[in-house]
Amino acid sequence: MVRLGLTGGIGSGKSSVAKLLRLRGAAVIDADAISRELTAAGGLAIGPITAAFGADFIDVKGALDRDKMRWASFSDTGVRTQLEAIIHPLVGSESAKQESLAIAGAIHCIVFDIPLLVESRRWRQRVNEVLVIDCPEEVQITRVLVRSGLEPSVVRNIIASQASRVQRLRAADVVLFNGGDSLDRLGLEVAQIAARFGL
Ligand code: ADP
Repeated sequence: MVRLGLTGGIGSGKSSVAKLLRLRGAAVIDADAISRELTAAGGLAIGPITAAFGADFIDVKGALDRDKMRWASFSDTGVRTQLEAIIHPLVGSESAKQESLAIAGAIHCIVFDIPLLVESRRWRQRVNEVLVIDCPEEVQITRVLVRSGLEPSVVRNIIASQASRVQRLRAADVVLFNGGDSLDRLGLEVAQIAARFGL
């Protein structure tokens, strides 16, 4: 069985590749999706976040106010560290649960979709291979602007807070270049590398 770490900067095309790998039979464990569930109304992280930062960071529906927290954690790295100390262990245990389910289902390839894989020693130790989706920064920015409506400066800040392109490439066992504008082409590229991961 392969535990494949899938990573790339924001807008690199990581989620698109995860979807294609899922279609080929992989189980995908999505750290961002888990983190969103944990911080949605009723999520397991809401209590500890309220205790640490106060109810000001919780919106009227009872979910984490993500915009407010994003600004707070960019301006104060202590906030970011404290938030990560709450969320990371919860993401770790939920992903372990999903991994056990995949193993019980005799899945050959478990894909860990981890935006900050390169930054995290813990995640790197949990995977046997690292697939990096590589993409020029300008393409990342264009894609994210179209998708999210965030300000360009916010997107640049997010990119600057993540590992650099070179750091990611150094950590890669396999690199998939996705700087183009064709999802069909991306599908063909994924088909070419899927066999290496038992798919
Ligand atoms: P990430 O998960 O890395 O943030 P996504 O997979 O969500 O990136 O891709 C960001 C956006 O760019 C999405 O709207 C996606 O459809 C688009 N996209 C990604 N790769 C390609 C490609 N090769 N051709 C066209 N659109 C792409």
